[in-house]
Amino acid sequence: MAAVMNQCEICFKDGILSTAVMYCVNCKHPLCKTCLTNHSKFRAIKGHKMLPVDEISKIPDFVRNYDEFCIDHSDEKREYLCTEHKKCICFECLKDQHKTCTSVCKITEVTLETELHSEIETFRKQVLIIDELAGKLIDSFPEDVVVLQKKILSAQDQLKNLISKLQSSLHRCETQFKAKVSTMCEQIKLDMKKCKIIRESTVKRSQELNEFVKYGDNFKIFIKLEELKSENIEDEKLLHEINNKTHRTEVSFTISQPDFENLFSCSFRSH
Ligand SMILES: [Zn+2]
Ligand SMILES: [Zn+2]
Ligand SMILES: [Zn+2]
Ligand SMILES: [Zn+2]
Repeated sequence: MAAVMNQCEICFKDGILSTAVMYCVNCKHPLCKTCLTNHSKFRAIKGHKMLPVDEISKIPDFVRNYDEFCIDHSDEKREYLCTEHKKCICFECLKDQHKTCTSVCKITEVTLETELHSEIETFRKQVLIIDELAGKLIDSFPEDVVVLQKKILSAQDQLKNLISKLQSSLHRCETQFKAKVSTMCEQIKLDMKKCKIIRESTVKRSQELNEFVKYGDNFKIFIKLEELKSENIEDEKLLHEINNKTHRTEVSFTISQPDFENLFSCSFRSH
């Protein structure tokens, strides 16, 4: 075929070699000057698209091989437009899958003449709209990522802040509790010391009395005894006071469980 591309196909069929000057896109063959003139005389094919012969090789394969025929009915051209399915279909499809579709129209020469231009315009507008919207989204996404990353940082800050407050609060509590209990321990040691001293003094007083009983006269014994009794009363009073401190170990430490579930909340809006 390529060899005869620069030959008029109509003349070639008649066994004549004529140099082609134009290529009819619709009829898909090259035409010589004479056949071109004849070709333009027919009304039905007047609107055929002509290309200079040297442009034939430039026709892309995807344009040349684009199938106008139906996939399911290979001998039927897809010459109907179903607006409901936004699809070009063949006559067989029209009678079959699209038989209930209400807006189907035939693609005629008139349709092509009147609507092709505006359809191309519609397509170009669609492309512009898609391009603009996609561009807008693409431009806004990096900013969205920045916003989300800032939210991560903010959440981390808040959690760190909470943890540090909690730590210092626990530390303060621990320190106060330790200090209080230590004071109580010191008091117990002090009381223990007092008890030991009282015990020693009592022993000493008994020994003293024994010496008075052994070597003193009754009068001396009597007044010494009053002195020692009075000291005993003081010591006994002191012991009772210490003994009455029933709350010596009455201290407790408890942690009330925080409401962890409601400590923080995350909310995500989903579409
Ligand atoms: Zn010819
Ligand atoms: Zn033609
Ligand atoms: Zn079909
Ligand atoms: Zn349909």
